[in-house]
Amino acid sequence: MKKLAIVLPCLFLSALVFSQSAADQQKAGALLQKMTLDEKIGQMTQVTLGVVSTQTDGILDPAALKKAVLDYKVGSILNVTNHALSVDQWHTVITQIQDEAKKGRLNIPVIYGLDGIHGQTYTLDATLFPQNIGMAATRNTELAAAVTKVAAKELRASGVRWNFAPVLDCGRQPLWSRFPETYGEDVYIGKTMGATVIKAYEEDGLRNPTAVASCMKHYLGYSASRTGKDRTPIYLPEIEMREYYVPQFRAAIKAGASTLMVNSGEINGVPVHGSKYLLTDLLRKELGFQGVIVTDWEDIIRLHTRHNVANSPRAAVALAINAGIDMSMVPMDFSFFDLLKEAVQKGEVPLSRIDDAVKRILLLKYKLGLFDNPYPEAAASANFGKGEYQVLALQAAREAMTLLKNENGSLPLAKNLKILVAGPSAQSISALNGCWSYTWQGKEEQWYPKDSKTIFQAISDKIGASNTITTSVKGFGSADNYDTMKLKAAAAGADAIVLCLGENAYAESPGNIGDLALPEEQVNLANAAAATGKPVILVLTEGRPRFITGIAPRMKGILMAYWSGKKTAEAVSDVLFGDYNPDGRLPFSYPRSMGEMVLYDRKPTEDVREIFNSDMNMEGYQPMFPFGWGLSYTSFAYSDLQLSSDKLKGGEPLTVRITVKNTGSRDGKHTVELYSHELYASITPNMRRLRAFKKIFLKAGESQTLSFTLDRNDLAFVNAQLKTVTEPGDFEVLIGDKKAKFVYSE
Ligand code: BGC
Repeated sequence: MKKLAIVLPCLFLSALVFSQSAADQQKAGALLQKMTLDEKIGQMTQVTLGVVSTQTDGILDPAALKKAVLDYKVGSILNVTNHALSVDQWHTVITQIQDEAKKGRLNIPVIYGLDGIHGQTYTLDATLFPQNIGMAATRNTELAAAVTKVAAKELRASGVRWNFAPVLDCGRQPLWSRFPETYGEDVYIGKTMGATVIKAYEEDGLRNPTAVASCMKHYLGYSASRTGKDRTPIYLPEIEMREYYVPQFRAAIKAGASTLMVNSGEINGVPVHGSKYLLTDLLRKELGFQGVIVTDWEDIIRLHTRHNVANSPRAAVALAINAGIDMSMVPMDFSFFDLLKEAVQKGEVPLSRIDDAVKRILLLKYKLGLFDNPYPEAAASANFGKGEYQVLALQAAREAMTLLKNENGSLPLAKNLKILVAGPSAQSISALNGCWSYTWQGKEEQWYPKDSKTIFQAISDKIGASNTITTSVKGFGSADNYDTMKLKAAAAGADAIVLCLGENAYAESPGNIGDLALPEEQVNLANAAAATGKPVILVLTEGRPRFITGIAPRMKGILMAYWSGKKTAEAVSDVLFGDYNPDGRLPFSYPRSMGEMVLYDRKPTEDVREIFNSDMNMEGYQPMFPFGWGLSYTSFAYSDLQLSSDKLKGGEPLTVRITVKNTGSRDGKHTVELYSHELYASITPNMRRLRAFKKIFLKAGESQTLSFTLDRNDLAFVNAQLKTVTEPGDFEVLIGDKKAKFVYSE
């Protein structure tokens, strides 16, 4: 009876969802029938806000708006002109746009899209959370879901229903300027976090004022550029592409992602925007993606102007649309509209392809409720800026903090010490938040919430102004921040130095670097601090791992803070002074040098062994800090690793149990990571692969037995025939320092 009471409402709900979606399909199909070619092509056109704006942010130009929405019938607008707008300004902008759309023959609403990358980037006073790299360090999927729901609410509160997130690119190239936007080097973390986030954006139902359409990006292989520079060529064998870059998208599609954005780069010489194989055969047919495919910025015309694979602008448009693109982020003019119209009229693009694209776009708009009410919704606005978001931001930043070194228990610091807080990021807000923070580059601090703290402020608030001194000034690049003489003089009056180094905010191409080395002036500062003889605690606020190999041995403690959003400074200070016991784990291998860029899931053949020369016996994996590294102020011990069987057959489940004990004197959270290793396979097997993780909280002295369930799919890899397979053979399960064996047979 009880069961029936649960089942019946569920059945009713799914019937409702089904009939809603059938109704949306039917409406989209019916509307399409009424549309002219111009109206259809307009729907496929997306322009940037600047095209319909005056020079002043947030103020639209009525003539330009009419041209875009009524003459060119654009289906979508994106972006800001320069910086974030207030909720009220957004409401005015969205209302004006939708009012204009209402004047059109068919009243088709415009869909507005923004990049809410770590919270709602482009609304003033929206809450910013850690970048994805920091969220990956938390290993906390519930937290990732909670954070995402806030981003969704603050977007929708601003009147915006389409978010260009999450980034699903796998961070296996730390030079890449968009590394901070990734979940790091591991496929399992990427697909687990990615699917969690997509569900969180969309699961309430897109009509609901708490949801937005997500956009998985940037399909495919964007992060694997050879030089690490943004949008430069990728050379990726298909076996590697399918092993490390496709699974995140497969999982995201399964999780219900509504839209997808394409990689601006080229793979093996083929621009992804022109690849029918990647956009139609793999994405649509094999992975089953049904939603809208949008280009990235200006990428269709670049098939002609940059990649040189189309000999005219019109050929570029035909190539991309025939490959499978539904919407073009043109976004600075209307050239796409005119060119696509010509291409259709000349028979270079079939009308069936246009209809297919437009139907998907209309369907998305129906699902989002835009046809019912395209305006900012009062119920959504009520969800902006709630106090609880700040609490969540602090929790997320705390859980991201990854303690890399703690020599002789130098940390936590006593609160009665006199602390010198130095370095370029000590008085910076932008270097704590990074890219996509109220502006694209995140560098302009005047747009940040007024109550954002610097690390210096947060420490001073905690231990008292009389115990805190600084040699740092505002402005990451300011020469004063690198003055070693000033630092030495100030250190004389301090018991310890908290040295804040790393990277100021950057996004995309402006973040390109030619070297992962920490800039020399920062290295000099670290050496000067160490030379004072005072204990130095290094705090790294950076989007990607910059080499600290030379200075690390001289530091008593090292805390990786990433770019962890609004509450970074508070979280840093909580960890340094022991008000929070750190539990973050590195989501990437912190490299030692350019010649040691091997990742944790390496092949055994990365090791160099020479049987005739016993000196030549080099471990292939020599990072500064390994993947999964992260210290705590307490200690955890593993025991009793048990498998439900030492044989796994066919599709049966295998249960893995392990007991974890907090053996130290402080309560703390801890992530248990489960790895697998196949001993022999048809291609050289990885040394280990992360297959599951769980984060738990244990009081001092407390134990817990955890259980994981695996099946053969969790053990699969891509073979030489490009098939994802699990081959029979001997396997190991590895958790911490424990290991157990089993045999898999079909
Ligand atoms: C970025 C995308 C972003 C788009 C719109 C591009 O330059 O590559 O990630 O969604 O701009 O702002």
